[in-house]
Amino acid sequence: MKLDTRAMRYLASEDWRVLTAVEMGSKNHELVPTPLIEKIARLKGGASGVHKSISALAKVGLIARVKEAKYDGYRLTYGGLDYLALHTHSARKDIYSVGTRIGVGKESDIMIVADNQGTQKVLKIHRLGRISFRTVKSNRDYLRNRASGSWMYLSRLAAMKEFAFMKALLAEGFPVPEPIAQSRHTILMALIDAFPLRQISAVPDPAKLYGELISLILRLAKHGLIHGDFNEFNILIKEIKVTTESGEEALTLEPVIIDFPQMVSMEHQNAEMYFDRDVECIKRFFSRRFHFTSTEPGPFFKDAKKAMKKAGLTRLDATVEASGFTKKMLKDLEAAIREKEAMKAEGNNSDEEDEESEEDEDEDEDGDEETSDNGGEIIIGVANEVDDFDADLASKST
Ligand code: ADP
Ligand code: MG
Repeated sequence: MKLDTRAMRYLASEDWRVLTAVEMGSKNHELVPTPLIEKIARLKGGASGVHKSISALAKVGLIARVKEAKYDGYRLTYGGLDYLALHTHSARKDIYSVGTRIGVGKESDIMIVADNQGTQKVLKIHRLGRISFRTVKSNRDYLRNRASGSWMYLSRLAAMKEFAFMKALLAEGFPVPEPIAQSRHTILMALIDAFPLRQISAVPDPAKLYGELISLILRLAKHGLIHGDFNEFNILIKEIKVTTESGEEALTLEPVIIDFPQMVSMEHQNAEMYFDRDVECIKRFFSRRFHFTSTEPGPFFKDAKKAMKKAGLTRLDATVEASGFTKKMLKDLEAAIREKEAMKAEGNNSDEEDEESEEDEDEDEDGDEETSDNGGEIIIGVANEVDDFDADLASKST
């Protein structure tokens, strides 16, 4: 699933209103009935205006009609949710233009964006809860009975959780990108000028970097946290030029950690397994890439847990769990993340098929599928009234 912003500038303010109405309606309808869209959008042009906007939105794939529907209705697509989030970031003046895509994970798209000062930032778009086509086929009934818009719910949860953790970690002085804003399934954060460890072929002092990474694992543990995916893709290495006392130029390496939706508490029932897995990941990578093996065994979970209790530091697992996440939300999100993990482990690379399954349902999608990457920068045009409109909708319960 790619973010394609080309249609963004061509949407009229009525279209945005209708798109927002479909999103509002999705909260309690898997398929939002057309009359409900009309009611929520309350366009001046009345029903015919709404129908015009519906056609325009369906044509560019922001909403879709489902074939087997018992009634006439639409659902929001990933593209539609992407546009709404971008629209919000843009109305808040956090994003002015969208540039290239730098990362494509199975659970996310990472885009370079910029504000109107030209400051570059990173937009992480979460894509969770979509099941591969193969799985979809054997799970039609299960899928049909799933909570409405569950991909929307899960992707939003992932973004909320990641944003909350990033804020908490930054506040404790952990090296993480500064989280700037969150909207729906997206997070806006500072761009780190660094390469992932994965792309680094040699370092001057592997033992030193290894020690620092293990210290980070232990420091997280002292605050009650396990990263849960502490690997060479999720550790960015900043190269900082320093001048030594003798006047020589030297390079120091500073790790920055990213990617937090799967973070778990040190009290989690499988905490030891996640802790060991994070440690093992670093050990394996350092041995393969830098031929470095630590002479010290461990670190071990039970020691880390003892150190956590003794340290008596702010427990970030508790802080985040207290910040509006219900137990059910965390459980739902965890289940979805594990499902993806299991799929990855099976080597199920059905991203392409995933796309098909989406299109399969989208009756209204046009055939002109030229899915080129956005090479250049795209400026997002935004009607200012959206601010008021969002507030207007938020105050109204539908
Ligand atoms: P995923 O959940 O898909 O793994 P990540 O958050 O790990 O997403 O991001 C994927 C990739 O995007 C990273 O490996 C990194 O190369 C790049 N990336 C993500 N966030 C940033 C950032 N703030 N600054 C620079 N690069 C980033
Ligand atoms: Mg990652």
